[in-house]
Amino acid sequence: MFLEIKSIEKYYGTGENRTKVLKGITTGVEKGKICVLLGPSGSGKSTLLNIIGGIEKADGGSIAIDGSKIEDMNEKQLSLYRRNHLGYVFQFYNLIPNLTVKENIEVGAFLSKNPLDTDELLHTLGLWEHKDKVPSQLSGGQQQRTSIGRAIVKNPDILLCDEPTGALDYKTSKDILKLIETINQKYGNTVIIVTHNDAIKLMADKVIKLRDGNIRKEYENTEKVNAEELDW
Ligand code: ADP
Ligand code: MG
Repeated sequence: MFLEIKSIEKYYGTGENRTKVLKGITTGVEKGKICVLLGPSGSGKSTLLNIIGGIEKADGGSIAIDGSKIEDMNEKQLSLYRRNHLGYVFQFYNLIPNLTVKENIEVGAFLSKNPLDTDELLHTLGLWEHKDKVPSQLSGGQQQRTSIGRAIVKNPDILLCDEPTGALDYKTSKDILKLIETINQKYGNTVIIVTHNDAIKLMADKVIKLRDGNIRKEYENTEKVNAEELDW
């Protein structure tokens, strides 16, 4: 298994307020697959992504990517891991206002070992005609495309997407999910995505449902065409 998640536990708060928000999550994702994390607000989706992304530390358990355990890494190794192997897309785009689309994307390639060709990427993202604009001249969807470009330009092994469509209308959300699928097919990145847009049904290889810090249900979506019939 490319990404192995074993017995991950996480607590927040101290003293009386200490609560367990991940209660022993064990699962895995194969290389190049699209895995969808579902679950109600507060079920632990972002916390799990942040632990995989090395942004937060688990209080128990283990995460291994291609055999490397992130809990064994020191700060320097962790920052190299984040720089070379992980791309992150959030609900809010956090673009740099005075940089152009192209420059915002290039920020993501900073110090990376084998960045993608920016011009080719701009075409894939559908942003070629907009490459010299600044974020305030873009629609929400175009801004999210730019932030996806910034995440993907280093060609990360894993792309983590935390509600990338949360601020967008239904149609634009669908287009963004399609773009993520195109990128997955073209560059082979493993994708873990939290989204509530049902268009993801037809793209997901694996679905993990969280509730109250536990996995309530998970399944492999081996026949994507049958996704409509799955208990979503
Ligand atoms: P989701 O992304 O599924 O909505 P989260 O992972 O954000 O859920 O949160 C899971 C639980 O952890 C929630 O109860 C939330 O309130 C709590 N939580 C998340 N981040 C923090 C934090 N930094 N400090 C304290 N509690 C937190
Ligand atoms: Mg969240």
